Amino acid sequence: MTEEELACLEDIGTVRRFSDGEQLFDLGEMDYSFFAVKSGAVRILDHSHGEPREVALHEANSFAGDVDLLTGRPAVISAVAKGDCETIEVTACRIRRMLGEIPTLSDKLLDAFQLRRARLESSGFLGIRLAGSSHSKETMHLQEFFYKNKVPHTLFDTDTDAGQKLLREWGVTEKDTPVLGCGKRVVCKPSLADVAECLGICRDIPDELYDVLIVGAGPAGLAAAVYGASEGLQTLVVDRMGPGGQAGQSSRIENYMGFPSG
Ligand SMILES: Cc1cc2nc3c(=O)[nH]c(=O)nc-3n(C[C@H](O)[C@H](O)[C@H](O)COP(=O)(O)OP(=O)(O)OC[C@H]3O[C@@H](n4cnc5c(N)ncnc54)[C@H](O)[C@@H]3O)c2cc1C
Repeated sequence: MTEEELACLEDIGTVRRFSDGEQLFDLGEMDYSFFAVKSGAVRILDHSHGEPREVALHEANSFAGDVDLLTGRPAVISAVAKGDCETIEVTACRIRRMLGEIPTLSDKLLDAFQLRRARLESSGFLGIRLAGSSHSKETMHLQEFFYKNKVPHTLFDTDTDAGQKLLREWGVTEKDTPVLGCGKRVVCKPSLADVAECLGICRDIPDELYDVLIVGAGPAGLAAAVYGASEGLQTLVVDRMGPGGQAGQSSRIENYMGFPSG
């Protein structure tokens, strides 16, 4: 981050100092803050294998935070100070507002958040553990839900030794599948509502009067929602699975308006 960008963040945030090993935010924390590093360093830790493992180190003029800051979901990693460090803390709510106010900074953060999530997933991060047969309709249904809602997960196929080992570890059998390991909880044959509740991604719909209700968040529904909201209409879009529709199942679509690089 440039000196100007840090100054900008300082205007809307609070300077906070952490000593070595002190936690900035914890795994599973909701609405955790964004931290820009002024001096010292911040370690990002993955806990999905049991023992914490460093997956990134943010030094001076960098920042800690990922896409969950925008979606308001629980943190999938934790952050601790390495040595004494000075940061600028900006609350999640304020950072979301800032994205609409400072486009240059917003582009930088959005790119970094997406890249970080992709890197985390390719670094061996397990995310949510799902045990089930890769040929089962129920398992595929849960995978589609994870995929559409950008929930990092790993399938332990019960047709393999690794899958059978996990079932034994969890004390369940094949007839209980699909089984979800969610923190310390093991949930057998979960419904999508159970999964959303487990992951802390349930959203209450505010009890307000809406001008437009759009059922289905595929390309048509999302476009209608964007244009409805931009015309000042109180707009609500709901989907039984998650955003993206059929287009969300494709690895690359190159002709969708507003996404020239696919
Ligand atoms: C693999 C693949 C690749 C593709 N590639 C391209 C491409 O490159 N270019 C291109 O132009 N098109 C492509 N398409 C087609 C394109 O994705 C579709 O034309 C487009 O998604 C249709 O958009 P839609 O919003 O009308 O419907 P859908 O995408 O079908 O979205 C409907 C949404 O409504 C939700 N829904 C349905 N019923 C309910 C209910 N009762 N309650 C709540 N929610 C509900 C569904 O969950 C879904 O999210 C591709 C399709 C697929 C499957």
